[in-house]
Amino acid sequence: MRDFHYRDDAFFCEDVPLERIAKERDTPCYVYSHATLTRHFHAFDQAFAAVPHIVAFAVKANSNLAVLQLMASCGSGADIVSGGELFRALHAGIPPNKIVFAGVGKRAEEIAFALKSDILLFNVESSAELEVINDVAGGMGRQARVALRINPDVDPHTHPYISTGMKKSKFGIAADRANEAFQKAAALSHIHVIGVHAHVGSQLTHVSPFVDSLKRVIALTRNLKAQGIPIRYVNIGGGLGITYSNETPPHPNELAAAVVPLLKEADCDIILEPGRVIVGNAGVLLTRVLYRKETDAKTFVIVDAAMNDLLRPSLYDAHHDVLPVHRVPTAPEETYDVVGPVCESGDFLAQNRTMPTVKAGDLLAVMSAGAYGFTMASNYNSRPRVPEILVKGGENFVIRERETFEDLIRGERVPEFLYSTA
Ligand SMILES: *Cc1c(COP(=O)(O)O)cnc(C)c1O
Repeated sequence: MRDFHYRDDAFFCEDVPLERIAKERDTPCYVYSHATLTRHFHAFDQAFAAVPHIVAFAVKANSNLAVLQLMASCGSGADIVSGGELFRALHAGIPPNKIVFAGVGKRAEEIAFALKSDILLFNVESSAELEVINDVAGGMGRQARVALRINPDVDPHTHPYISTGMKKSKFGIAADRANEAFQKAAALSHIHVIGVHAHVGSQLTHVSPFVDSLKRVIALTRNLKAQGIPIRYVNIGGGLGITYSNETPPHPNELAAAVVPLLKEADCDIILEPGRVIVGNAGVLLTRVLYRKETDAKTFVIVDAAMNDLLRPSLYDAHHDVLPVHRVPTAPEETYDVVGPVCESGDFLAQNRTMPTVKAGDLLAVMSAGAYGFTMASNYNSRPRVPEILVKGGENFVIRERETFEDLIRGERVPEFLYSTA
C-alpha cells in the first residue's frame, strides 16, 4: 500500500495526513487513494495486453460512483450482479458494451433493464434462468447475448464463503452438464450464445485454480466451436487475492504469464472480472479510539467504527492490519481486541492483536479496506453509514456524504391507525 505511508511519524494517504482528514471529515470514514486505484487498474489491464480483452471491474467490491467513474476513465467495463449495480455502472459512464451481468437470481425486471441497456452479455447460471431471459428478450423483440457460467469444480483454497466454483456451490452449471446446457441455449430463439464463463472464488493466492478452471473452459470452448456454437468470449472471472497480512498472491503479471498461453489457444476475446485486487489495498477505514477497557481476560480498544462499517472480520474472520495514525516509535506493545460499539460479541475489527499502545482519542487506520468494505456496510444499530473520501495528491474529496439520522428513517411510514390509537 505504497500510497499509504508514514512521513516521519504521521500516516499519510498520498500527500494528505490522515489526521487532517479526521479533522475535516470526522471519523469513522473510508479513505481511498486515486493514485493506487489508477495504478492497480493499469497494472492489471497491461498484464493482459498480449490478448484481446475487456477488464470488467467487479462493481460489488466498491461501487462508489466516483470510483466507477475513475474505472470508466481508465477504460474499464463492469461485472455487475444486480439491477442496482447496472444503474450505478451506467450512471458512471461505463460503456454498456463492456458490461457483463452475473448472479444466480436475476429477476425479469433486471433482465429487461439490462436488455434495454444493451449490455455485452449475461453470465447465465442455470437452465431455468436461460428460459426466463429467452422469454423476456422475446417479449421485447430482442436477442439476448449470453455466456454460460460453468462450475469447473476447482478448489480455490480460500474461505468457504467466497469459494464459488466447487461442486456443492450454488453458482454456475456443472461442467459435466455444460454441453447439454449449451445445446439447449443455442436452440432458444431469443438467445445468442457467445461465451463461456467461470469464476472460482475470491482472494485466491495461487495461480493453479485459475489454470485448472481455464483448462476446463477451453476444452469446452473447443468442443462447442466444433459443434458449430460460435463462442467469441472466454471469461475467466475475478478472484485474484491481495496481501492483507502475510499472503503472497501472484502479481497480475504472474497470473497473465500462467494463463495467456492458454488464452491464446482459445482464440477468443477474453473477459476478466477483477474486484478486490484493484480496490482492496487502495483504501483504509479511518477510526478513532473512544475508550480503553481492561477486563481480567482482555484489554479492549473500543473504536467508533464497527462491524456494520466493515463486516469482513466478523463475517470471514478476515485479518486487517490496524496502524496508528500517529506513530510513537518508543511506544511499548500491548495485545488488544479492537472492537466497535455494536451490540454483538462478533463486532470486532481485530482480535488478540499486538500493537503499539493506544489511548482514547488516538486515530487508527484499518488497512486493506477498499474492497468489500463500504459495499457491505449496513445501518445495523441505527448507525448512519460513514462517508467515503477520495484523496488525490494533496487534496481530499467527499465522494459519499456521511448519512444523517434523517437518512436513517427515510422511506419509513407509520400507518395512520398507529397514530389514532396513541
Ligand atoms: C465477486 C465476483 C468477482 C470479483 O471477485 P474479486 O475476488 O473481488 O476479484 C468477479 N466475478 C464474479 C462473477 C463475482 O461474483
